[in-house]
Amino acid sequence: MQTVSVVASERARRFANACSSNGDDVPIDSQVGVGTARKGLRERLWAYATTVVRDRPRVRSLIDTARSLTRSTVGRVCTCTLCGKTARFLPMGVPLRVSVACPGCGSLERHRLLGLYLQRHPEVVKGKLVLHFAPERPVARAVRAAQPEMYRSADIEVGRADLQLSLEKIDLPDESVDLVIANHILEHVDDRMALGELRRILIPGGRALLMVPIIEGWDETYENSAVTTNAERTRHFGQSDHVRFYGRDLRARIAAAGLSVSEFTALPADCLEYGLQRGEKLFIATKAA
Ligand SMILES: [Zn+2]
Repeated sequence: MQTVSVVASERARRFANACSSNGDDVPIDSQVGVGTARKGLRERLWAYATTVVRDRPRVRSLIDTARSLTRSTVGRVCTCTLCGKTARFLPMGVPLRVSVACPGCGSLERHRLLGLYLQRHPEVVKGKLVLHFAPERPVARAVRAAQPEMYRSADIEVGRADLQLSLEKIDLPDESVDLVIANHILEHVDDRMALGELRRILIPGGRALLMVPIIEGWDETYENSAVTTNAERTRHFGQSDHVRFYGRDLRARIAAAGLSVSEFTALPADCLEYGLQRGEKLFIATKAA
């Protein structure tokens, strides 16, 4: 025990010496703000304000919220992969995200990620039979413009699309579709049934383009049979009609349905240019040819 304490105190002494030779005579408070000399007055005021209230979480929270709103109203100039508009994109989302909505067509980041994929892989749509579930208008317009042989939209509710279809039980023949687009739907439904149905209706070599809310830090998808009310689903899964938060095992779930999986992620420069969420993924599920 004595040896350990001597060693520890020796380490502490050396550490203290090292600190003293590195300018520890400068008060900690005065070090805050180093590097801000060249920043504008607003940045310096924010730095000062956050320093003053750093131990007061409620005030700090209010300041951070105001700061976020200030930045949100400015937004970045981005270009839309779907309508081509270059402009300051609008803040949207809860919590508010910056540079989200295209002022031209209303597209969000996930729509533009899909648009970027389709721009770079026009063969996925051109000359194909396309079925688009829960069709988002900006995406639908871009897909139609990409010259499919036939385009049909589908939704579970009557009157919202060309066809009324449930992804869990698709009323279409086997091997009748080249491409399915189903953006943010799997988290609402029985995904084992839905993925099985996608495999059934796709032609050999056909593809499904899938996006979902996914937590890449989780090995396993979070589902909870005790969660039954809208309020609980919002708290647990982020939205009142979501039934899970996917983890990394989404790939295994797609594979279990007999579909191979590849992924499309935008590069850093693309995220800046097109206003995309860093790391967001489009999953491409392909039926064996
Ligand atoms: Zn747009």
